[in-house]
Amino acid sequence: MTTRLLDGKALAQTMQAELAQQVATFREQTGVQPGLAAVLVGDNHPGRLYVRNKLKACSSVGIASTVYERGDACSQAELLDLLATLNADPAVHGILVQLPLPRHLDEAAITDAVHPLKDVDGFSTISLGLLTAGRPRFLACTPYGVVKILERHGIATAGRHVVIVGRSNIVGKPLALMLGAKGHDATVTLCHSRTRNLAELTRAADIVVMAIGQADFLKADMVRAGQVIIDVGINRRADQSWTGDVAFAEVAPIVEAITPVPGGVGPMTITMLLYNTLQAARLQTAQARTK
Ligand code: NDP
Repeated sequence: MTTRLLDGKALAQTMQAELAQQVATFREQTGVQPGLAAVLVGDNHPGRLYVRNKLKACSSVGIASTVYERGDACSQAELLDLLATLNADPAVHGILVQLPLPRHLDEAAITDAVHPLKDVDGFSTISLGLLTAGRPRFLACTPYGVVKILERHGIATAGRHVVIVGRSNIVGKPLALMLGAKGHDATVTLCHSRTRNLAELTRAADIVVMAIGQADFLKADMVRAGQVIIDVGINRRADQSWTGDVAFAEVAPIVEAITPVPGGVGPMTITMLLYNTLQAARLQTAQARTK
């Protein structure tokens, strides 16, 4: 049997074409253009290219976007001021603060300073809390992208055992909540650096999600036939090529389906940011009209 390649790039293109239609319809009906503000702090930010790609994707679906750049010297107070201005701007429906922030800034406080109705990254305490309580508003884009890859490829999660390796607040933890929630109904095991017998757990899973940031970590002896493997990791090899957390060449021939890196989860992260920005515009427009 040949392994099924779960092509996130192709799915992202399809979903962005759908989003472009939805944005156009929303604009026709309301006269409002969804707007995203990206905040980039640091002179040589490693996420500069990601921000550029996010803004390019915005323009391709009809979402207005602006980047607000600040240097290494930007203080906590200055950044909070900028966020207060963007929070109050009715043309800005979504705000993303590209992480990581320079070390002197308090990342949690900054993330929580984004208005809850504009938190299109879904990183704030309120967004995570709503997800935990089973009343999600904005879902973090990368785990949301993983959910969409599974859904749109017809991969069922109900009653299946999903092993997620990596428990960060932006990937593993929210994904465990999403897939374990009613509607998705998976049985989730959330693993981390202190997990014992990791290979036994990954072999027992129906679906394995790798999100640890260690190149080629999941090897042939950690998987079995019939599994679906989702690779969130993005790692740079010494020769500058990109690889995920999965040793793709040895794992792919064994399993039933797998995402590539690049071209798997990455493009879906951007797509879900666009989706969340449209949702934010819908929420804020509806709220403004009931006032
Ligand atoms: P973090 O560094 O925040 O978290 C890493 C997690 O992996 C931690 O929970 C850590 O455990 C766990 N871990 C580390 N080593 C091991 C190990 N040997 N065995 C088991 N668990 C381990 O990473 P992120 O969640 O931010 O990112 C993870 C990866 O996903 C990175 O490669 C990142 O680049 C990529 N990423 C990709 C995105 C995309 O768009 N495709 C978006 C965001 C991230 P512990 O908690 O015990 O320390």
